[in-house]
Amino acid sequence: MPSYIRVLPELLINQIAAGEVIERPAAALKELLENSLDAGATDITVQLDNGGIKLLRIRDNGRGIVRDELALALMRHATSKIASLDDLQSVESMGFRGEALASMAAVAQLTLSSRTAHDTHGWMVEAIDGRISEAAPASHPPGTTIELRELYFNTPARRKFLKSEATEFAHCEEAFKRIALSRPDVGFSLQHNGRTVWQLNPGLRIEDRGLRGEDDGGWMQNAALKRVAALLGAEFGNAAVPVSGSAANLTLHGLAALPAYSRGNRDAQYFFVNGRFVRDKVASHALRQAYQDILHHQRHPAFVLFLELPAEQVDVNVHPAKSEVRFREGQGIHQFIFHTLQQALAAPALSGAATQER
Ligand code: ADP
Ligand code: MG
Repeated sequence: MPSYIRVLPELLINQIAAGEVIERPAAALKELLENSLDAGATDITVQLDNGGIKLLRIRDNGRGIVRDELALALMRHATSKIASLDDLQSVESMGFRGEALASMAAVAQLTLSSRTAHDTHGWMVEAIDGRISEAAPASHPPGTTIELRELYFNTPARRKFLKSEATEFAHCEEAFKRIALSRPDVGFSLQHNGRTVWQLNPGLRIEDRGLRGEDDGGWMQNAALKRVAALLGAEFGNAAVPVSGSAANLTLHGLAALPAYSRGNRDAQYFFVNGRFVRDKVASHALRQAYQDILHHQRHPAFVLFLELPAEQVDVNVHPAKSEVRFREGQGIHQFIFHTLQQALAAPALSGAATQER
């Protein structure tokens, strides 16, 4: 064992990072979907083969990448989303770390094809074992396609940790649902092994809704409500009450199911902070507490809730996959969530509908 200190080669650095950011196909899918949304896409198509292990292809109609930046996009710490610490503190894009594509390029055979609105045709680059090819012309409509083949083909120790194709697909589907729930204004489709699993049409765009801010209860009504019903089913929709509240610069809106639809696990819990799905202790505790009086302690509530607050009041740079956040004013947020939800659940609870579970 050599004991001298050395700087690791770039490929190995990226493979190590991949362990954190891309631990399974679903994690790659999440990063790719977020990139498409950050690129302003309104239509996103996902094709998976064999649970995403063999093939994961995602195509969007976003703004695309110019030829000269294709290789750059695959490099570590290369991002168009932040340029300074100030930017980081008020980041509104889903990404900012500039490491997702570099990690993917290190552990899969990756092709990146893209075309901007100004190009007359597309360009593509390939990366295998971290080596990036020259850009070559490619036929592509405006937007971007990223294809990952044979995830972890060159890191067998990690590939061994992948579960069955069915399990990996289930994780991918969950990642897809989380993103699709958060953006009802965007059309999404998901295919697995050539079969269409989800085809979600875009609802009204946020601007067109014209309701956000003026009428907090209103925004769920159209596109978002349809999206929730499509993804979680009518049973959830029937058991759910609208949640809507605002205080100072916080808003919470969405749907929360009455106890009749409670679960033995936490699978139907969707909590978003500024559009980002997170698992957060402060929020979970507040939500739990709001359900305390109407839900048996072994049951788990079901909800789709969106918390919005100014970007600088929440630190999203806590976790490589950004699935955790830290609130600057945790206590105030706890109270706000608790009160808003308690109020939403109170009205039907009085009529007895919510006490069925006891
Ligand atoms: P990050 O999202 O943190 O910036 P990524 O490695 O995910 O890092 O992506 C690197 C860069 O590649 C992005 O900053 C963006 O400029 C570009 N990019 C990635 N995916 C897309 C896409 N689907 N459409 C347009 N640009 C993209
Ligand atoms: Mg990204």
